[in-house]
Amino acid sequence: MVRIAVAGTGYVGLVAGVCFAEVGHQVTCVDIDENKVNVMRSGVSPIFEAGLEELMQKNYSAGRLNYTTDYQSAYRDADAIFIGVGTPEQPDGSANLSYIATVARQIAESVEKDCLVVVKSTVPVGTNDKVEQFIRDFLVNDVRVEVASNPEFLAQGSAVHDTLHADRIIIGTESKWAQEMLMQIYEPFHLPIVSVNRRSAEMIKYASNDFLALKISYMNDIANLCELVGADIQDVSRGMSFDERIGSKFLNAGIGYGGSCFPKDTKALEYIAKQHGYELKTVKAAIDVNEEQKKILYKKASKRLITLHGLKVAVLGLTFKPGTDDLREAASLENVPLLLEQGADIYAYDPVGAENFARIYPEGKHGRGSITYVDHIEHALDGANVCFIFTEWGEVKAITPEMYKKLMRTPLVYDGRNIHSVAQMQEAGVEYHSIGRKHTS
Ligand code: NAD
Repeated sequence: MVRIAVAGTGYVGLVAGVCFAEVGHQVTCVDIDENKVNVMRSGVSPIFEAGLEELMQKNYSAGRLNYTTDYQSAYRDADAIFIGVGTPEQPDGSANLSYIATVARQIAESVEKDCLVVVKSTVPVGTNDKVEQFIRDFLVNDVRVEVASNPEFLAQGSAVHDTLHADRIIIGTESKWAQEMLMQIYEPFHLPIVSVNRRSAEMIKYASNDFLALKISYMNDIANLCELVGADIQDVSRGMSFDERIGSKFLNAGIGYGGSCFPKDTKALEYIAKQHGYELKTVKAAIDVNEEQKKILYKKASKRLITLHGLKVAVLGLTFKPGTDDLREAASLENVPLLLEQGADIYAYDPVGAENFARIYPEGKHGRGSITYVDHIEHALDGANVCFIFTEWGEVKAITPEMYKKLMRTPLVYDGRNIHSVAQMQEAGVEYHSIGRKHTS
């Protein structure tokens, strides 16, 4: 058993803390947000992740898991302190490291025994060298503190599963002591561990995320070309997927990647390269394609319709992907303002993301347009002139072509996730536009 403190209870920190407790470690999760801490203490998860709340309750009752805002008491006698605070994008594309710096300072002022600080947050290559130096510069007590890199690869929506069954654990250390401590922490997970130096670990995170972003943008680029030359992207990706060198995952075309990681990690790596006088052309291309792709449905609809003013527009799905309540960099956030600007009356449905979205776009008038949130898909579709699909939630996938035909005033559907069959939509009399496939118009 290792005494672990975790700084930050977001998607990464909370899930890591809960899973460490689940395998038998003694864990204290720290957050500056008192509200969040109180919510967690009452057994409720502040984020929507399958299976998380059950594990929180189980390990809290077992006395292996605690939550606090009192970082001093949590860090004072920890064997290892994991940092999972945010590293958001700054206007120039670089990562904002101020949250990491604050935690580093708090650690330096609190630790009373030797401890390993493990950075889970995604940070630019070389950051952990600086974090180590920073902590040592501010240490109040005469103790040994080392910093290790342990980047996180979980995907939101399946975060608990991804943590307990990760493909690999990357540990980046500069000493045997640090390496052995991390081995001990991860031993009960029985997962493959790749042990490298700190800078390589930091780079593995960016290189992996940006490779996936590249794969998505590549498929979207090919999808756009498919439309122009009369090929079908789904057939193309199926054909590609049998090639083991390519792999079968991340071959779906759509309206681009969103979320808190791919957009910022592509820009951050491009920025790091630039700082070193190197142009990372491939990653830059992935960023450019994605920016265009996010607006592609809106552009298609604008070509097809004289105006959106006064039209009832059904918007299905607001979150950046299904299984999460996270809206960061979601395609909806790009498209809804455009639709409102054009005077659309939006009826938006999302099974978990509507509340968060309403904080940004409260229900009611917005300029010439308006937005209303509905609890049932039918209410969004009823009498609608046009429908946009931004997130492939199960309940959205379950809509039959006949429902669009029956409920909508004009069955005109723009699908950013290619969830319906072109042939079936056509057969039902729905005008259906998707990505990289043959249109029915
Ligand atoms: P998040 O924004 O959801 O959570 C960060 C939490 O840290 C917040 O609850 C905030 O209140 C807390 N915090 C801020 N300052 C603090 C302090 N001084 N002490 C304690 N808590 C503090 O962030 P996230 O999505 O979990 O991402 C965290 C990091 O992990 C980022 O670097 C991100 O790039 C990386 N990452 C995220 C994912 C993902 O899917 N979200 C996956 C892999 C890696």
